Amino acid sequence: MKETSRTLVKSLNPHLVCVLCAGYYIDPTTIVECLHSFCRSCIVKYLETSRFCPICDVQLHKTRPLLSIRRDKILERLVYKIVPGLHAKEMARRSLPNT
Ligand SMILES: [Zn+2]
Ligand SMILES: [Zn+2]
Repeated sequence: MKETSRTLVKSLNPHLVCVLCAGYYIDPTTIVECLHSFCRSCIVKYLETSRFCPICDVQLHKTRPLLSIRRDKILERLVYKIVPGLHAKEMARRSLPNT
C-alpha cells in the first residue's frame, strides 16, 4: 500500500506545483477562462502587470483580472492531502510574525 501512495504522489506532483514559484500551491487559485491554477499570492502579484494567463496566454478580464480567478477549494484539499506535512508547515509559517 505504501508503495502505491508514494507512486501516486509522484505522478500527481506536476499537477500540484505552481509554475510561478515552483512550489506546491498555497491557497490554490484557478483562472476560470482556462482552468490553470496558481498560488493565490503568485497569480495576484502576476496580474498586477499582466492580463494574460502565465501558461496559455488566454486573456483575462480586461480591466479587473481578479474577476477571472477563483479560489480552488478542491485543489487546496487535494494538495494538503497528497503532500504530507504541507498544511502543518504552512500554518506554522503563517503563525510567525511578519518580518
Ligand atoms: Zn506559486
Ligand atoms: Zn491558462
